[in-house]
Amino acid sequence: MSYLRRRVWLCLLVVLLSFSSFWPDTAASAQKQTDPNLYSERLALYKKMEVLTSVPWPYLAAVDSYERGLRKALRDREQAKGLVSIYYPKEEWVGALNPNINDNDPTTISLFEGIGLDGNGDGKANIEDDEDVLYTFARYLESHGYSDEDFRIALWHFYQREQSVNIVSGHAKVYETFQTLDLHQHAFVMPLHHHYSYRSTWGAKRGWGGRRIHEGTDIFANYNVPIQSSSYGIVETIGWNPYGGWRVGIRDLDNIYHYYAHLNGYEKGLEKGSIVKAGQVIGYCGSSGYGKPGTQGKFPPHLHYGMYRDNGISEWSFDPFPSLKQWERADKNAKKNNS
Ligand SMILES: [Zn+2]
Repeated sequence: MSYLRRRVWLCLLVVLLSFSSFWPDTAASAQKQTDPNLYSERLALYKKMEVLTSVPWPYLAAVDSYERGLRKALRDREQAKGLVSIYYPKEEWVGALNPNINDNDPTTISLFEGIGLDGNGDGKANIEDDEDVLYTFARYLESHGYSDEDFRIALWHFYQREQSVNIVSGHAKVYETFQTLDLHQHAFVMPLHHHYSYRSTWGAKRGWGGRRIHEGTDIFANYNVPIQSSSYGIVETIGWNPYGGWRVGIRDLDNIYHYYAHLNGYEKGLEKGSIVKAGQVIGYCGSSGYGKPGTQGKFPPHLHYGMYRDNGISEWSFDPFPSLKQWERADKNAKKNNS
């Protein structure tokens, strides 16, 4: 490389670097989510707590990823500063009658019946220390026992909400199956070589079912074009629904519920509790729905795809169109790079 060319490259690099510092938030947090080192550090932390408490690490990972989603969805919770997102109110950590709300002395904390524990043996029970928080939660789970049923009971006492219990135990099964935390890749909902078309229809009036708005994107394609899961996750619902026809609901590890409706049929073997990968075929495009079980052909075949977020209290839908565009582009690029 000539001297001049090297200088041009150097300038470009400097420009790029200075630009990237203008978007610290979006760029850095997006990178944080996919950083392989982050997954391995986090997993090491969970496994360390498993050794200390005998609580299986997928349980800890499941609660932590659920709590990460809650922090994103609940405005009054600040983002986690470390690797662990499990949230405790300060009063609970130090004890309700403790005059020192920032207490980190395990002796006085336990005197005031606070729950905070010292997980790393530094003599402090620090609510901002990942190991102390994770250890405190692991001990709580341990006090209920180690089986799946014990786990569900502990979760019920912690969240007092059936849906939260289901979501977290679903997360645990996904982690158990793949034995890694690196499960946030996505795929477009159909193989790209099939003909399909879609546009943004968020909020449009729907044809059937009264005054509800259209909560999703319709992707038109021929009968029996394979439908792929857009994410890793667990099948939470499967079966007939008067609006959606033969539909599947899959919960991913960002606590997003992906809804696939109007299918012609399911992939063989798919059932409630099945664990799926991003890009795995789950069913086939059809026109089922808008009536009694088996009703078909009231509209052209298409996939109705919806995305829902859970905030620990309720669920709401958001526009899946931008995500679909992003996954479609990523799949196209991957295809290009492979050929
Ligand atoms: Zn639709």
